Amino acid sequence: MSEPDPRQVIERALKARLSLIPPALRDAFHAYQDEHYRRFLLVVTLLGQAAYLSYVLADMIIVPDVFGLSLAVRSAYVALVLPLTLAAFLWSRNVRLLDLLLPAQIFFAAILWFWLLARSSSPWVPSYQYASVIFIVLANLCVQVRFLPSLAISLLISAAIMHGVYRLAAGNQEVVLVFSLVYLPVLLFSLFISWSTTLDRRRAFLRALLDRMTREDLSAANDKLQALAHLDPLTGVSNRRDFEARALRELARAQRHRRPLSVLSLDVDHFKRINDSHGHDVGDEVLRVLAGVARQELREHDLLARFGGEEFVALLPDTALDEALVVAERLRGVLGACHIPMDDGAIHFTISAGVAQLADDASGLASLLKAADKALYRAKQQGRNQVCLAFCGMATES
Ligand code: GH3
Ligand code: MG
Ligand code: MG
Repeated sequence: MSEPDPRQVIERALKARLSLIPPALRDAFHAYQDEHYRRFLLVVTLLGQAAYLSYVLADMIIVPDVFGLSLAVRSAYVALVLPLTLAAFLWSRNVRLLDLLLPAQIFFAAILWFWLLARSSSPWVPSYQYASVIFIVLANLCVQVRFLPSLAISLLISAAIMHGVYRLAAGNQEVVLVFSLVYLPVLLFSLFISWSTTLDRRRAFLRALLDRMTREDLSAANDKLQALAHLDPLTGVSNRRDFEARALRELARAQRHRRPLSVLSLDVDHFKRINDSHGHDVGDEVLRVLAGVARQELREHDLLARFGGEEFVALLPDTALDEALVVAERLRGVLGACHIPMDDGAIHFTISAGVAQLADDASGLASLLKAADKALYRAKQQGRNQVCLAFCGMATES
């Protein structure tokens, strides 16, 4: 079975009602959430603790008889959870845990608060207990990553609150019923917020992934276009335009540092005959073999290009005419020994070459190429399968 296309997998997940993250992408999803929401989660968790502590002031007015206890309990609670929070955010890379830190803290905060209210005989307690809806709203408002665990903690918080209300009402079912009628819509509303935030986070991640893939595809297509613009499609070596751009830089460098530089002009002998007798595709194979062998024989920083038809040019930096002659002769020898296997035997071919060195005076690329071409022309005239030299535009025989 073939591997599914990753783009299709993501698009399908994006369109699905629950936009579930495919298993293979879960780690990337959590890393993405960690990168984008870690700071937010830390800030809301700390703000939640600050809000819990600040209710000491409300307790002072509403339940003054337990104010001292409230101050002690709330302060002790924050003194315990604050370092735990900071340590978790400092050392844990697990965003799923950090996401649930606030709801989990709220669960314990709710238990403590009802324990406090149970110790007060203030007449305001029955109405003050309604403030506990804030717990469930806060617990769900800030969840980003996973809905189901946040749902589980919401149910635990609700159980703690309902238990607290039941205890305060001394089992009076009417009080519990009225509280539940107020509490339930708030619970459902806050769960909806948590659900839609986690769904949004999944979709934002999947969309970001698709965007990144599109950018990568574009850049790969761009690289291909660039290669097409610079390379000869048949042989994979540089085309004339690429050669000229790079050769101009090499020429300038050679002139600046007074280094020798040479050019080889290569042409297959009687190439037309090969095409005519064996077909164009065999001719193409000859060109590919020539380019491959030449690339192997030349140094890495020598430039090789196909100038068109069966004509190739090589530019050899830091190479004087006599050294370039050795290279050209070696190439002629190796290529002459090559054979292209055919059903009825093998094809051999030879090349002729012209070699020129950059003159001391400020002659340009065009005159250097022309000098090599003239030398090549002489090699052809003198019977082919040979190398001729030129110097400062003056062709000489090898
Ligand atoms: P010489 O020894 O004088 O160089 O003779 P030649 O036959 O090699 O030279 P000529 O210029 O007469 O013929 C070159 C041939 O190369 C003609 C053309 O059809 C063929 N050719 C040009 N481009 C390609 C190509 O990409 N593939 C193939 N197979 N042939 C090509
Ligand atoms: Mg030819
Ligand atoms: Mg030719």
